[in-house]
Amino acid sequence: MAYIVVATSNEHKVEEYRKLLDGQNVELKSLLDYPGFPGVAEDGKTFAENAGIKALAACKYCDVPAFADDSGLEVEALDGRPGVYSSRYADSDPERIAKLLKELEGKDNRRARFVCAISIAFNGEIIETFEGEVKGTITLAPRGNGGFGYDPVFQPDGYDQTFGELPQEVKNKISHRANAFKKAMDFVDEEMSALDADF
Ligand code: IMP
Repeated sequence: MAYIVVATSNEHKVEEYRKLLDGQNVELKSLLDYPGFPGVAEDGKTFAENAGIKALAACKYCDVPAFADDSGLEVEALDGRPGVYSSRYADSDPERIAKLLKELEGKDNRRARFVCAISIAFNGEIIETFEGEVKGTITLAPRGNGGFGYDPVFQPDGYDQTFGELPQEVKNKISHRANAFKKAMDFVDEEMSALDADF
């Protein structure tokens, strides 16, 4: 069976991708399977740049096709912060959430979006990068223990529950990661059928 490496060691993300790939004829590996991976500085200024840096580094190190995502939360009232600094905004998930709620205290506009860029790298080159988003609002207090990161304070448009409360299957249908991943899979399918047509 063919396999592809997702350039992350975040177990939650690996699990989300494994579910998204359910039924596809491809086995998913991650950097958890490559403990010697030296890591790479995520010093890009955009989600797309960081996704490209990570996908390329994993593709070169593991010598197999790889994809990587870079994602984060953009909050309107904070001019798009924490953005690419979402994981570096504070030291732990509870601290990140507490800091965000503090910054939004007294602000009427609580609109936000999660963004995810996914890059695919093959044969030592970045092939394509795709972006997905999900829009919603930041709640006044955390609700639910599901998911990770900012999930307990993010309520997607059209739902009464936060990503921390919604079942994983629902998040997996509408999330920024699912949207970017769908675009990436459509691209891979198209490329495959173009290759088939050439023969
Ligand atoms: P990275 O893509 O691994 O650099 O992570 C970016 C950061 O954005 C994560 O550490 C989380 O804090 C946040 N983040 C990204 N995606 C999600 C999500 O689906 N739910 C909650 N937080 C997220």
